[in-house]
Amino acid sequence: MKKTLLSGLALLAITLTAADYVSEGDLWWSHIQYLADDSLQGREVGTNGYRKAAEYVAGKMEKFGLQAAGTDGYYQPVKFEARQLIADESSLALIRDGNSQALERADATMNSRVDEGTVDAPMIFVGYGLRIPEAKYDELAGIDLKGKIAVYVNAPGPVDAPGPLKSHAGSGTERWNTLRAAGAIGVATIMNPRAPVGANPQAAPDGQPADASARGGRGAAGGPGGGRGPQRAFLLADPTLQEQVGQKIALTITRTGGEKFFAGSGHTYQEILDLARENKPLPKFPLAGTLHAKIAIKRENVEAPNVAGLLAGSDSKLKNEYVIMSAHLDHIGVGRPVNGDTINNGAMDDASGIASILEIARIMKADAVKPRRSILFLAVAAEEKGELGSRYFGMHPTVDAKNIVADINLDMFMPLFDLKFVEVQGLGESSLGDTIREAAKEFGVTVQADKEPEQNRFIRSDQYSFIRNGVPSLAFKFGYEFGTPEDKIFHDWIRDRYHKPSDDLNQPVDKAAAAKFDRMIASLLLKVANAPERPAWRSDSFFKRFAR
Ligand SMILES: [Zn+2]
Repeated sequence: MKKTLLSGLALLAITLTAADYVSEGDLWWSHIQYLADDSLQGREVGTNGYRKAAEYVAGKMEKFGLQAAGTDGYYQPVKFEARQLIADESSLALIRDGNSQALERADATMNSRVDEGTVDAPMIFVGYGLRIPEAKYDELAGIDLKGKIAVYVNAPGPVDAPGPLKSHAGSGTERWNTLRAAGAIGVATIMNPRAPVGANPQAAPDGQPADASARGGRGAAGGPGGGRGPQRAFLLADPTLQEQVGQKIALTITRTGGEKFFAGSGHTYQEILDLARENKPLPKFPLAGTLHAKIAIKRENVEAPNVAGLLAGSDSKLKNEYVIMSAHLDHIGVGRPVNGDTINNGAMDDASGIASILEIARIMKADAVKPRRSILFLAVAAEEKGELGSRYFGMHPTVDAKNIVADINLDMFMPLFDLKFVEVQGLGESSLGDTIREAAKEFGVTVQADKEPEQNRFIRSDQYSFIRNGVPSLAFKFGYEFGTPEDKIFHDWIRDRYHKPSDDLNQPVDKAAAAKFDRMIASLLLKVANAPERPAWRSDSFFKRFAR
């Protein structure tokens, strides 16, 4: 037994070093050429382009010998509800001393995830709106929020706590749960003035630098798609899986409208922005008058599948445990024109990740790899709508939930230059950190911890849907050293191509480096699948609390 295992490992190592990265890079790119072609129209969930992408992935999974692991063949259909504000029948006004001051669309953006109806409520400014008992931080103490709209700056605030706790507590869902428990009926957010320049406030961040408020209200904003008028918000159709429930109104206050909201309160919008820009504590105070809102919503049912294929394990016992290899199949579709182009092709985001999971499946078949645990390859829907496809899978897994031992997620891993460094999100959180170090070493790749922890990328893509269920996870970016050309290439890409039509097939990509990355991730998967023990959270990990 021991001898067999050793020779198996030796064989694997030989295969890994013998890989022809140039031709494997071309195979990897061929999937992206299909998925990011203009004919797929940016793969927005519910569109024909997304359906074609799902069919392509299911077809390749079959070709690469994976067993169907959805609920309908390779598919796990997911039902969504898309909501859109009917702009002509919706309105906002500030009511003060019996006078009504109408607010324009430029003053505040109404999120369409709420129900239709009329809201009349006082507003209260609650700083960053955070109550985090673990950090002994409470901005809501002594404040009566009952029946009121909580107005807050959507930023992490001067909280002294580990990054993961801050980002978890600052997520739109957690912040709302806290405010709702304190009696609030809605929220009006002020965008984080510390957000990096060039961030698209309407973009769904994919773990990328963007305004924290966009993330917080991401489900609410429903992604870009600015070319179609008011934005659509997507919710899982199953009400028991919906988040941010009980919110009667959700607004984003703009810079144009800021001073109107604060007039008569004894404070100015500018004063609040200045303090928040310095990350200073904020005062708490009621705003003058009440907010009147009329909300009309158009609803639409949308269905789009997750796609799942299984490489069954070889060990009679461990085959009942599952390592998930995930990436998201959807992108943001057609939007407003940039240089005459309206199609957001999503080549790196995240056709690249889907291409990699397909390549890894192909490699495992070609190399006749027999992992002891099963590996579930999963292409999820609606990441761009708030990680909804992975959340649905997390709540309705097609394999036994308690036997999912890890999630390895690929979302925009950014093969824009040679793979010398790999930046790992979640590196210090679980035993998977040691495993990726071993895999990287085989390839002469240096592991780096998350270089921009304030971006909280570890909980900003589909791995979070697994983390919240207690499953140890990792996510990755090609790493670089500060001040190098690679640093510039990475950040220029974020500025110029992230969630834009230029994330397309006409961009420089290091295909051979992507192929090397795929081999490294394949090695990681096999190590996790073959280890005697399943991965475990570190005793000091914040995320350990979710373990079941
Ligand atoms: Zn993405």
